[in-house]
Amino acid sequence: MIQTVGRDDVKTLGDITYFEAPPLKALGVVNHAFCTKSGGFSQGMYSSPNSGSAKAEEHARLANTFGFEPQRLITMDQVHGDRIRIMDKPLIPLRPFSNCRSDALLTDQPDIAIGVLTADCVPILLVDPKRPVIGIIHAGWRGTLLGIAQKAIHKMTHHFGTHPGDLFVAIGPSIGECCYEVDEAVMGLVCSSGWNWQAFSRRKGMGKWVLNLARANIDQMRDRGMRDEKCCWIRVCTRCNTDILFSYRAEGPATGEQISFIQLRGDIDRV
Ligand SMILES: [Zn+2]
Repeated sequence: MIQTVGRDDVKTLGDITYFEAPPLKALGVVNHAFCTKSGGFSQGMYSSPNSGSAKAEEHARLANTFGFEPQRLITMDQVHGDRIRIMDKPLIPLRPFSNCRSDALLTDQPDIAIGVLTADCVPILLVDPKRPVIGIIHAGWRGTLLGIAQKAIHKMTHHFGTHPGDLFVAIGPSIGECCYEVDEAVMGLVCSSGWNWQAFSRRKGMGKWVLNLARANIDQMRDRGMRDEKCCWIRVCTRCNTDILFSYRAEGPATGEQISFIQLRGDIDRV
């Protein structure tokens, strides 16, 4: 059975409130958090002339709170595609805030914290504690239709030798089926994708459907061998909880993005 975490389980460290997945924490090999608005990045930070320094400050605050060096946090230029970047070498030279165009990152390097920014889309963390190797995924509806979560597991298996049954998975806060309405144009693409859409969508009225993106991703990963008892779902809808979470659907383009990150702890003996 999949373990779920609710809104009341929110944690606080310093001035950052965040959610965590108890099964990932219990492994003892990773640091991770799904931050709320308090650890996030508002859109203004990217568009203002001082965006670089504001972003740097946010990275530093996050890194200091969770105990890693700010320059070791890698986020992505997310493009709603299915490109997966592998980082299997130490970061040399260290480049602050280096970004890469992809929607998933995999690494076995203990000195790299990998992060994803979301405001309705589904953030997913992967941990294979046996290799050990970690991954992070950004899955909106486009990425879900492209099967990005399945592809990330496939790549982990081929590149790092992960057995999917060993994987621990955490799904962060995202827009829920209570709120994720799509129109006929999107639903047409969903239906023609070959994806098992019937289980994860519901007709809501003329020309309107609702999708359950998190469940769709869970199902895709299950198909690749993920085991339910190793899966944890932070079942908190971004659109229903805008007091603590950014939501593009609720707040529009002026909203920000919350960051989720994961890092392999460097103080663990390699097997
Ligand atoms: Zn909702």
